[in-house]
Amino acid sequence: MPIKVLDKKVVSQIAAGEVVERPASVVKELVENALDAGASQIAVEVKGGGVSSIRVTDNGAGIPAAEVALAFERYATSKIDNLGDLQSISSLGFRGEALPSVAAVAQVDIVTCTADESVGTYLSLEDGVIVNRKSQARPRGTTVAVRNLFRKVPARLKFLKSIATENSHIANVASQYALAFPEIGFTLFIDGRKALRTAGRGRLMDSVIEVYGVEIAQNMLEIEGSDWESGTASVQVTGMVGSPAVSRAGRGYLSFFLNRRWVNSRLLAWAVEEAYHGLLPAGKHPVAIVNIALPLTEVDVNIHPTKSEVKFQKEHQVFVAVQKAVRQTLVAQMPVPKIEEVATAYASPPGRGPALWTSAAVSSRSTIPSPEAPQTLAVSLPVLRVLGQLMSSYIVAEGPDGLYLIDQHAAHERIIFEQIKQQRSRQEIEVQGLLEPVTFEVSPKQEEVLKSHYEDLAEFGFSIEPFGARTYLVRAVPRWLNNTDWVGVLRELLDSYSGEDKSDWMEKIAIAIACHSGAVRAGQVLTDDEMRELVRQLEQADTPHTCPHGRPTMLHLSSGQLRREFGRS
Ligand code: ADP
Ligand code: MG
Repeated sequence: MPIKVLDKKVVSQIAAGEVVERPASVVKELVENALDAGASQIAVEVKGGGVSSIRVTDNGAGIPAAEVALAFERYATSKIDNLGDLQSISSLGFRGEALPSVAAVAQVDIVTCTADESVGTYLSLEDGVIVNRKSQARPRGTTVAVRNLFRKVPARLKFLKSIATENSHIANVASQYALAFPEIGFTLFIDGRKALRTAGRGRLMDSVIEVYGVEIAQNMLEIEGSDWESGTASVQVTGMVGSPAVSRAGRGYLSFFLNRRWVNSRLLAWAVEEAYHGLLPAGKHPVAIVNIALPLTEVDVNIHPTKSEVKFQKEHQVFVAVQKAVRQTLVAQMPVPKIEEVATAYASPPGRGPALWTSAAVSSRSTIPSPEAPQTLAVSLPVLRVLGQLMSSYIVAEGPDGLYLIDQHAAHERIIFEQIKQQRSRQEIEVQGLLEPVTFEVSPKQEEVLKSHYEDLAEFGFSIEPFGARTYLVRAVPRWLNNTDWVGVLRELLDSYSGEDKSDWMEKIAIAIACHSGAVRAGQVLTDDEMRELVRQLEQADTPHTCPHGRPTMLHLSSGQLRREFGRS
């Protein structure tokens, strides 16, 4: 093909891809525009995962009639004038790309009116081109309606996940802004159902209650908002952090707002996690809402089209300020346990067997391969003779080819995991009815996952039904989870859902249940009979060599290795 300049429409669709990755990106851009316009009420309504429609209504400044069309031109913005302005941006938008980008990949209608105008303006665009324009009455503010997102960009459409997943991303965007701007009343309706409403009275605690529910809210500590003077930089850190009692399995509960801009930052996440060092069990993450105020000139927000990543001029100071503020808050509110206590209370990180031992893991799912070349074993286990227990944690057994050291906890998890999967496939999961139904509060994001996965959870024995605003009633749980924190298990599951396909998701549920099912722990003394029974069940497992997380259940020291080590051959 000869070189030619691309058609304007193609150029704008390509460029749009950088800003509008998925429906939630549209919601983010429109909400940011409403915030920049000084709105105090912002309503988001979406249908069909945001692909069918997204409508954002605000009561902000509005766009004067003479400028509405211009707002849809690429690089048209009212927020900066020149390059100098870029060095101190206080608005969320500034690139003038959002409206044209959205219009390039969807049908857009806008109705807007300023305080000075007696009548507002309606504008309708298709393929980025204005197809209709008229006067239309409305109170001060702006409504932008986006329909049929990506209909003409099949490649993007194909890449989208399920409606539930897109809804959960949208709910997350709305939740983050509700946390960042407690003084603004946000509402989110998903397919006509209220998913979030904040009062907008200015108290962060109110937003936390709406977004995360009362259980988390009552465990939140206000960050001691001291001003950290470090060098010339003045970094102010405010917000709330969860007491270690409300830790979560993922990092999805860490929110950072830099000069009120929602940002992703590994640096900041690390700073917060550092502050919790020694206070949370391995694999657990804190809940935190951290607002950082920095002089505008000390941060570059213009490094990415979605503006969600930022560059700090003085990274180290910011890191230290956040870490100290959070740590100080935690220490002030609670005694910090000694390191030794923590180390024994929570299992130490998974270690490796001594070089002598060969990990018996053969499954491809093994995530912790031993440093040596793994010895290939038949997939099924030979018959083993139990010799005894070591350190109340390992079963020592003899097989036809040497010695086996079995991690009793990992092995039991594997056994239970396979039993759960088997029972489910035969629809024989044992269910424990609760004496009284328990109410279960969910975040908007969790709700999106829950709504579309009732049945999957029911297959594993959870009986859950809606019970008012973001509250559900749980009537029964899998027998395996009786006497455990099954609420925590459910939460963890809903949080971990990431649009995986059905079989991976079902596997995830089974793993979560197995993992909390009261498998024998390390440190538990077992009788000979119990050990024999455990080994017998492990012999029958389909994949006996790894636990459901992929860690080895056993180490094998072959007769050959024994001979070599003792210099007999
Ligand atoms: P940017 O936000 O980067 O300036 P956008 O494409 O998002 O670019 O918006 C272009 C311009 O349209 C904005 O600069 C602003 O003047 C105007 N605008 C967009 N949305 C709104 C709104 N909800 N209320 C008032 N003005 C708006
Ligand atoms: Mg914008």
